[in-house]
Amino acid sequence: MLDRARVLDAGDPLADYRERFLVPEGVIYLDGNSLGCLPKATPARIEQVVREEWGQDLIRSWNSAGWIDMPVRVGAKIAPLIGAQPHEVIACDSTSVNLFKLISAALAMRPDRKVVLSEPGNFPTDLYMIDGLEKQGLATRRLAERGKLVEALGDDVALLLLTHTHYKTGELFDMAELTLAAHDAGALVLWDLSHSGGALPVDLNGCGADFAVGCGYKYLGGGPGAPAYAFVAERHLEAAQQPLTGWMGHAAPFAFSDDYAPAPGVEKLLCGTPPILGLAALEVGVDLIAEIGVERLYAKSQKLSEFFRQCLAEQGIILDLVSPIDPAQRGSQLSFRASAAYAICQALIARGVIGDFRDPDILRFGFAPAYLRFEDMTEAARHLAEVLETGEWQRDEFRERAAVT
Ligand SMILES: *Cc1c(COP(=O)(O)O)cnc(C)c1O
Repeated sequence: MLDRARVLDAGDPLADYRERFLVPEGVIYLDGNSLGCLPKATPARIEQVVREEWGQDLIRSWNSAGWIDMPVRVGAKIAPLIGAQPHEVIACDSTSVNLFKLISAALAMRPDRKVVLSEPGNFPTDLYMIDGLEKQGLATRRLAERGKLVEALGDDVALLLLTHTHYKTGELFDMAELTLAAHDAGALVLWDLSHSGGALPVDLNGCGADFAVGCGYKYLGGGPGAPAYAFVAERHLEAAQQPLTGWMGHAAPFAFSDDYAPAPGVEKLLCGTPPILGLAALEVGVDLIAEIGVERLYAKSQKLSEFFRQCLAEQGIILDLVSPIDPAQRGSQLSFRASAAYAICQALIARGVIGDFRDPDILRFGFAPAYLRFEDMTEAARHLAEVLETGEWQRDEFRERAAVT
């Protein structure tokens, strides 16, 4: 398999991009879906922002270095990766906060309906943000299993909120089909693209999506806690009103008026002063992903994950795949169910093979294709085989749970 991997690497059109990231020596990083690797250009850019723009130019940089436009500028760069127009996307706040803003906006646009429909097992923050609005009396949460979502779309549903690529299983929703079904039922749709943006082509406008949010620190490589992004379809830019009416979302923030008036465009999603260091790092990541192109990234990630499955088979590893077996039905990850998933994951990490564990029994491997090689697949499979065959995972040190996994 190693020979085949080397042939595949030699023919890989994205091979050279690995050099554009810092991939630590001795690490096979299968967790780029959780925290993407550092683009090598990021430290220099951050240093420039800190030393020159902040250090020297100080407050003038809001204009001279374009700080004030960064949320809109970075949003516009994310837009083509997700099938949006540049003026429909803004980079700001966290995914959680953007969920709150857009769920609220959608509820206000459907005043005679209260239900926000989602699926059980969606990413926790998505469900919790609905809960928070429910506690305020503004929403009613309804959960229905994937196959039952369409029939759960009653005439009381204001919003369908789904995560496009499931964080645990990697399973994709058919965005076009579900958006259409929600619209037929008179509901709006909000897509969480956290595990999709920068990993696979998304066509928000082609699918008629109303709203979307997504994460900056996963496939976009924006760094820990990077700003997230939010999308509002052009046709809703006027009607959508978000509840966090901070001054940066004002039509004229520097008029210092006593009364709030929302900006007409997507800037209305801003709340407070944008985090410039975070946006600067995110911009480097987004530029790099855009340069490579999501179509090419997705094509390679499918090849990587299929090759990884072949390597597992070759090693005689039998694990229960919970991701769809058809690569077209999944994002850039493979997840397996194993009762010892936690300990196996820890034993792999000790060998430098970093995947992750998702409670209670999921072993998750992400294939961020910009910096992974086919050779990494054979090596990861070999390590996994050794961990399983030698019973290494049974060591006490691998079985004790850390607070953050
Ligand atoms: C990672 C992730 C988030 C993260 O939200 P934060 O506010 O950045 O913590 C939200 N939704 C999904 C589906 C995710 O995978």
